[in-house]
Amino acid sequence: MKTFCGRANPTTGSMEWLEEGEDYDYHQEIARSRYADMLHDKDRNVKYYQGIRAAVSRVKERGEKAIVLDIGTGTGLLSMMAASAGADFCYAIEVFKPMANAAVKIVEKNGFSDRIKVINKHSTEVTVGPDGDMQCRANILVTELFDTELIGEGALPTYEHAHKHLVHEGCEAVPHRATVYVQLVESRRMWSWKKLFPVHVEAEDGEKILVPPSEMENCPGLPSVCDIQLNQMPSSDFSILSDVVKMFSVDFSKPVQSASTCYRVQLEPVKSGKAQIVLSWWDIDMDPSGMINCSMAPYWVKPTSALQWRDHWMQCVYFLPREEPVLQGEKLYLTACRDEYSVWYNLQKARADEEEHKADVCVESPVCRCRAHLLWNRPRFGQLNDQNRTQQYIQSLRRVLKTDSVCLCISDGSLLPVLAHYLGAKQVQYFVLFFRSLHFSLVFFSYFLKANHLEDKIKIIEARPELLKPSHLEDKKISVLVGEPFFTTSLLPWHNLYFWYARTAVSTHLANNVTVLPQSASLHMMIVEFQDLWRIRSPCGTCEGFDVRTMDEMIKDSLNFRESKEAEPHPLWEYPCKSLSEPQEVLTFDFTKTVPQHCLSTEGSVKLLRKGKSHGAVLWMEYHLTADISVSTGLMQLSNEKGKCEWNPHCKQAVYFFSSVIESEILSDPTAVTYDIKFDTKTGEIAMDFKL
Ligand code: SAH
Repeated sequence: MKTFCGRANPTTGSMEWLEEGEDYDYHQEIARSRYADMLHDKDRNVKYYQGIRAAVSRVKERGEKAIVLDIGTGTGLLSMMAASAGADFCYAIEVFKPMANAAVKIVEKNGFSDRIKVINKHSTEVTVGPDGDMQCRANILVTELFDTELIGEGALPTYEHAHKHLVHEGCEAVPHRATVYVQLVESRRMWSWKKLFPVHVEAEDGEKILVPPSEMENCPGLPSVCDIQLNQMPSSDFSILSDVVKMFSVDFSKPVQSASTCYRVQLEPVKSGKAQIVLSWWDIDMDPSGMINCSMAPYWVKPTSALQWRDHWMQCVYFLPREEPVLQGEKLYLTACRDEYSVWYNLQKARADEEEHKADVCVESPVCRCRAHLLWNRPRFGQLNDQNRTQQYIQSLRRVLKTDSVCLCISDGSLLPVLAHYLGAKQVQYFVLFFRSLHFSLVFFSYFLKANHLEDKIKIIEARPELLKPSHLEDKKISVLVGEPFFTTSLLPWHNLYFWYARTAVSTHLANNVTVLPQSASLHMMIVEFQDLWRIRSPCGTCEGFDVRTMDEMIKDSLNFRESKEAEPHPLWEYPCKSLSEPQEVLTFDFTKTVPQHCLSTEGSVKLLRKGKSHGAVLWMEYHLTADISVSTGLMQLSNEKGKCEWNPHCKQAVYFFSSVIESEILSDPTAVTYDIKFDTKTGEIAMDFKL
């Protein structure tokens, strides 16, 4: 069987479907899976074990046989816990075939084959009866089907079905219940992920302010969850407006309804301010009494000693449809609406006449009306709202633009053409749009240009760079080619080098003395020790006494599936690390020239200057807008004594995890890491190899 995998080609900027063998998908999924992270989550594992032991005891005390249904068994961990706790039989359901196969091996290796039956099915396909997958219904329901938003992985429909068809009424459930908590905050930083702020431009004829279109004012955005490591958000970046409030609970031991519904709570702000954001997280009680509790509460809600690092469960940021000024002590209603898979929020002021009137404000799932939320994701909004960054582009544009400049911009959803217009180029600005986001871009930019009275100042060309014709440019040659560069299909930092390929494709349209901005880019690299991120790719060995090495081996095989291991994208502002080496520039890309035919490669070594564990290398791009103005999409600052790094908060950096970790101790005779990095100009990909 063949699988087709979609991947953006960094040399053409378009999506391509590659035919891959059946195993490909599995390897990708396993290599990037969260299984290792879950197995390293000690707090979660210990509490599941306690909850499972307690549930088995309660059933035994009633004189019943303990029959367990474990939906989504993964490695088989929770079933093995149940079997060790004395369960008579476990049905371990797993839909993902390679995991189900691994579970069979792990269960066997740990000696539980006689009491655990692994069933490779989706739970809704499982049959019960003498000839069925399960002999009888279970009386203990164990699952771990939660994502950061609790319900995003389909826990509700799975529970609904299980209660109807797979478990007895009044069964024990581990976890017993989940509760979702919320807190209302004001935060310019987080609000900048949802709204476009006005952009101030110091033009020759006075200050100009670019305003967002009115369509964006009340646009609810998208229903997709914004999940982040909230513990990395300093308290100075938000202002708390309410206490933590329980929003809703789900009792997993009773029939669960997955149909859309709303929950409403009353709030009284503890402080006046602008309500913009609802921060949310959940906890699960493993037992009915709530004594065994596993909580995702952030650092300001629970003592830091109780914080367990994990990446599979984080916290959620919800954006209110519009900013609402609120007064301390005033009565507000916060409504959470959910469908089967997602949650969204609304805030209303309580009016005296509806005090007791529980309005049935079941609001429809958010749909973006301004199209900007379809064009820009949250980090991209943050990037466009980053005033320092904008100032650097403004300064460099000012330097290169002349009144007779003919300017072409190649970047997705970029505001550079508008800046260029204000900064001097009085000629019509051109602006290339790509087909993949064409419709949203056209609609959004028509709103945006209209709101700023620029409809006739900027021309949008609906053509791919290689299809650009002289007629598109009214037979003029381009004197200034600009790009951020930013493209929505880029996964890894160097994928934005598509700008270079596009620049090459439009070469015949460029004037002899064309200015290209950025004029060049460079790839940078640094060896780091992660505070926590290493866990997601590190072997587990044993987990709560169970041998899960089969899982480790499976992940290792998947990582080695392709000759060269790949780097993976991570937003490092969320994952603290310490630099062990100096940052090093490893490759440069000259945008004033076309993309060469040959590969660009480099070899060298980098010294480990600080004590620590070398978990991997971090790589990022820097763009040199002009000779003296550069923007970094990676490292922003490095405090040298301790190696503390500050990362660009709007970009993902590339992380290459080393397959073995070395611990550098001595500083007098620093260890070196050698690298071999190759940029293949044919594919636009970078292959790398490190030796410790
Ligand atoms: N129980 C394991 C793994 C949890 S991850 C542990 O706690 O370590 C969740 C697993 O559930 C995934 O492997 C996923 O493939 C599987 N899954 C999710 N929904 C399912 C369903 N309805 N039926 C069967 N498997 C499911």
